[in-house]
Amino acid sequence: MNGKKLVAVLLLSISSFAYSQAVSRKAREIENSAIVVDTHADTPQRFLDENYDIASTDPKDPGHISLDKAKAGNLGAEFFSIWVDPGTIVKEDFAKHTLDLIDSVYQQAARHPDRMIMAFSVADIDRAHRDHKLAALMGIEGGHSIENDTRLLRDYYRLGVRYMTLSWSNTNEFADSSGDVNDPKVEHHNGLTEGGKQIVLEMNRLGMLVDISHVADKTFWDAIAVTKAPVIASHSSARALTDAPRNMTDDMLRAVAKNGGVVQVNFFSGFIDEDYLKASQAQAAERDAAVKAYLDQKKASGQTVSYLDVDRIEREWGNKIPRPSLKALIDHIDHVAKIAGIDHVGLGADWDGVSGQTPQGIDSVADLPKVTQALLDRGYSADDIKKILGGNLLRVFGEAERVSREMQQQH
Ligand SMILES: [Zn+2]
Repeated sequence: MNGKKLVAVLLLSISSFAYSQAVSRKAREIENSAIVVDTHADTPQRFLDENYDIASTDPKDPGHISLDKAKAGNLGAEFFSIWVDPGTIVKEDFAKHTLDLIDSVYQQAARHPDRMIMAFSVADIDRAHRDHKLAALMGIEGGHSIENDTRLLRDYYRLGVRYMTLSWSNTNEFADSSGDVNDPKVEHHNGLTEGGKQIVLEMNRLGMLVDISHVADKTFWDAIAVTKAPVIASHSSARALTDAPRNMTDDMLRAVAKNGGVVQVNFFSGFIDEDYLKASQAQAAERDAAVKAYLDQKKASGQTVSYLDVDRIEREWGNKIPRPSLKALIDHIDHVAKIAGIDHVGLGADWDGVSGQTPQGIDSVADLPKVTQALLDRGYSADDIKKILGGNLLRVFGEAERVSREMQQQH
C-alpha cells in the first residue's frame, strides 16, 4: 500500500467513524425510550399513484418513508396525509379521491400486519408501540375534501381520519388559505365563514384535531377563537426566522400555547431557511412554466397526470439550490420552544411532500435520531426532547379525545 493510498484509507475510515458516531448512545437511549410521532407524510400519493409498497427495500428509492426506514429512525406513529391535489383532481372527484387515498393507507397496513397497524387514538398508538409496529394514522389536508358537507366530515372520521387541515394552499368554501389570500381572482371570506366555525365545532365534538397549517392568518385567529379543543399545526415552521406566509408568527405561536395546542415543525428547506426560500422564489416563474409545459404535454398525449409528475419536476429544480444545514431546522424547533414553550412544539416533517427538499443529513425518517442528537447538543434535556418527539402531540390528541367525550355527553 503506498502512502497516498494509506492516507485515503485512513480518511475514509475516519469519516465513516465520524458518521457512525454522529448519533451518540445517549441520543439513541432517549430516542428508544420515546414514542416518536410525526404528523405529516404525503406518502399516500405514492401508495395510490405509484403503487409504492411501504415495505420497499430498494436502496435507490428516494422516498422518505419505508418500514425499514421507520424502524431505523424509531418512528412510532405517522399521520399519513390524505391530500387531494386541486391542481390535478377535478372538483367533482374530491370526495372520491379522498376515499381512494384513505383506502391506500389501509391497504398498506393490510399487506404488512406484522409491522404496521391502523391507529385511531392515543391508546392505539401506545399499543402499537408496545407491539413494535408502526402506528398509521390519517389526517385530511385541505377542507375541500369535505365538499362543504359535514356529513362527509363525519364519514371521514368514521373511516379513521383524526385531523383535518382547515385549508390547503387553496381557499375553499369555508376557510381562507395563506396560499392564495392575496390573489384577487379568488373569492375570500375574511377567515372562516359561519359554516366554517360550525365545522370546527363539529370536529371538536367528533374528536378530530383541528389543524391550522396552511390557513390564512385570519382563519387561524377565527379557529383559535371558536375551538373548544387544543389545535395543532401539523406541519408549520416559524415566520420570525423564515418569512413564508404559511409559517407562524410569534403571536400565533403564543396563541397556540394559550390554547394548549402544539406546533409541529415542518422540515421543508423553503420554510426553514431564508436563503433557500429566496432562491426558490427567484426560480418560481421558470419552474412553474416547466411544470405546466410538462403537464400540458402529458395531457395532450392523452395521459393522466398526478401530483407525482409535478413532484418530479420540482425535485429537479429544488436540487439546484443548496440544502440548508440541520442547524436551520433546529433553530426553528428552538424558536417555537422559546416563544410557545417546550410543551407546544413537535415534529411534522412533511415527508414525501417537499420534493426531497429537506436539510442536509435528513434524507428520510431513518435520520430522525440526528434531530435528537442536535437537540441534545443544543442543551435540551431528555424529558424535553421526548416532549418534542411525540409527547406533546399525544397530550394534545388525548385532550381532544376528552373534549369530544365531554361534548357528546352534553347531548
Ligand atoms: Zn402541506
